[in-house]
Amino acid sequence: MATTTFTKKTLTLETSEPAVTPAVTPPPPPTSENTFAKKPKLAGTKSRKKEIPEGLWTKCPKCSTMVFDKELDENNKVCPKCQHHFAITARERINSLVETCSFEEMDPQMSSVDILEFQGVASYKEKLDAYQNSTGLKDAVITGLGRIGDSRVALGVMDFGFLGGSMGSVVGEKLTRLIETATDKELPVIIISTSGGARMYEGMFSLMQMAKTAAALAYLGKKKLPYISVLTHPTTAGVMASYATLGDIIMAEPGAMIGFAGPRVIKDTTQAELPAGFQTAEFLMEHGLIDAIVHRKEMKQALGTYLDYLSEGRRHRARAAA
Ligand SMILES: [Zn+2]
Repeated sequence: MATTTFTKKTLTLETSEPAVTPAVTPPPPPTSENTFAKKPKLAGTKSRKKEIPEGLWTKCPKCSTMVFDKELDENNKVCPKCQHHFAITARERINSLVETCSFEEMDPQMSSVDILEFQGVASYKEKLDAYQNSTGLKDAVITGLGRIGDSRVALGVMDFGFLGGSMGSVVGEKLTRLIETATDKELPVIIISTSGGARMYEGMFSLMQMAKTAAALAYLGKKKLPYISVLTHPTTAGVMASYATLGDIIMAEPGAMIGFAGPRVIKDTTQAELPAGFQTAEFLMEHGLIDAIVHRKEMKQALGTYLDYLSEGRRHRARAAA
């Protein structure tokens, strides 16, 4: 009957919908050939971890060395053998940069509202709850005031572990408040980015954050206050196209993937072969987008040096006025 066919159709549409979360793209429809090819593969999936106890060692994806977790933590999550920079949480990053006990967090309780009532495999609300529980964060950025060396700074640090560091209304609002506070208090701003881009679950509200943060930075610039942007692996899409690339100085961590659209999309659109190293920090430094690539261990000192340099004019004027 007509009604049953209709219901069936909507059901199929709903299950194949999760374009939002590419990680769960359904497998291709089985053909007689690939069902056969796939089955033994699934059954024989290699036990990658073998007998190594979990939570003690981590395999470096670059040089395949097994690194003792404690050693990795002590080394700011950098492989001691090949210097591969592992992902680091926002809290770990802040601890590695600011002077002890100098960080005062701003808006720690700000949390997203599911204004579009977004439904997918899991609702947006459910996703937020799950990520809040797993990361202990309310959203993908931590902002606050702290001290690096002798400089008091307004610092924003993104966390890729919270929904891929996506920028929704909370990330945009927290960063805007941070920049506005810095403008009022005459402080330099540092934002450390890692993001998959704008948060699709918030639709247009996410995209509006690009303009909002950029406008706040323009007011900071009018006051001749410095803004340093640090790009870490990966920084892409809407974040890359707004505050991440508006720094007076743009720094990056070695090997970070940085770009707007993914390489496959660009390759398909332009129908051109992409150059080697395309979208890495090193490539972008060579082509003039990035000013400095700094090892995580040296990041604090480098930021201190740049802040000193950028604040010299302001200090000089203050001395002259006194
Ligand atoms: Zn390594």
